[in-house]
Amino acid sequence: MKSKNNQHFETIAIRTQTARSQFGEHAAPLYLTSSFVFRDAQHGSAMFAGEEEGYLYSRFSNPTCDEFVKKLCLMEGAETGISTATGMAAVFVTLASLLQQGDHFIASRSLFGNSLHIITNILPKWGIEYTLVDISEQEEWKKAVKPNTRLLFIETPSNPGLDLIDLEKATDLCKSNGLLFCVDNCFATPYLQKPIEFGADIVIHSATKYLDGQGRVMGGAVLGEEKWISKAYEFLRRTGPSLSPFNAWVLSKSLETLAVRMDKHSENALKLAEYLESHEEVDVVKYPFLPAFPQYELAKKQMKQGGGLVSCDFKGGRERGMKFLDALQMISLTANLGDTRTIATHPASTTHSKLTDAELAKAGITKGLIRFSVGLEHIDDIISDIDQAINASKK
Ligand SMILES: *Cc1c(COP(=O)(O)O)cnc(C)c1O
Repeated sequence: MKSKNNQHFETIAIRTQTARSQFGEHAAPLYLTSSFVFRDAQHGSAMFAGEEEGYLYSRFSNPTCDEFVKKLCLMEGAETGISTATGMAAVFVTLASLLQQGDHFIASRSLFGNSLHIITNILPKWGIEYTLVDISEQEEWKKAVKPNTRLLFIETPSNPGLDLIDLEKATDLCKSNGLLFCVDNCFATPYLQKPIEFGADIVIHSATKYLDGQGRVMGGAVLGEEKWISKAYEFLRRTGPSLSPFNAWVLSKSLETLAVRMDKHSENALKLAEYLESHEEVDVVKYPFLPAFPQYELAKKQMKQGGGLVSCDFKGGRERGMKFLDALQMISLTANLGDTRTIATHPASTTHSKLTDAELAKAGITKGLIRFSVGLEHIDDIISDIDQAINASKK
């Protein structure tokens, strides 16, 4: 996995430094400033007219934010990108800037809950139509294409069911129908999966998750070709959900350790998945790199490793799921994922509690489904907490 200038992923993540002041600091500086000073009146006039390049105002651009984006682009193999205040801002900016009134687009039903809300409740107010497709019925997707369809929006692996979408097949569908292909690559990160290499046009990130990796700052990014990103940038700089330079500085620093963290998250998650698979109180375990996973071959083809999320179904459904959570002693009950700390969530009673039983089933969520975001603690401590909670919730 080498970039055009022949550096490896890990080296790019550490050695890409675009911002450096006259002091020659070794680590990246933080440009915590709202605006930038003009040399003189003529310079200010030229900057506003767009005749001269440079920094003007941090809603538009900032050297610390640019460094984070430049590095992430090299890691994803993208031409250019923008950074946003949150992952949701990245999703909204992408769809709102690339779609027009009267357009139609297709989205996977298995998406992050708030992305679905934007698609089904906000965009229709502006006359942007959608069709949601089932993740498992990719043959049906072709039937959803209409003359005014412009775009396909997916997540793989999906949240929380961890189902995969074949990136190559989805690219074929988009290429043969002239659709823009957008992938939310939050779960895998560019270390484990590079959608652009498979033909995706736009990659979206919630940087809040693995890119930060320690549950401290919010952030997002949209990456792709200049012709699309320029539209997203125009929308961002006018409407304002821009990334804070402080958060960009934290995120740029975090990218330096993405590879080692994702290796360890994946190693711990595989060990946990193997433990759960062998437990008689557990019905189904889903983890892309378990040989028993229905899409194991596809996982091996498009992902470097399985990532940090594992889901499983305990015998006893919803009630058992909630009892299990209450019995955990170390593992956190919280809404985040991609943290150093292991987190357990029960989608049917939290993130997806508004869905009807039929909708839950369509999204691949069973009532007893527990999703683990496996952290970087010692695996024996993670397993021992889960083991005692399984036993305690049996009664
Ligand atoms: C968390 C998440 C988002 C939203 O990101 P925020 O930073 O919380 O706004 C979008 N997509 C996926 C897949 C996520 O997990």
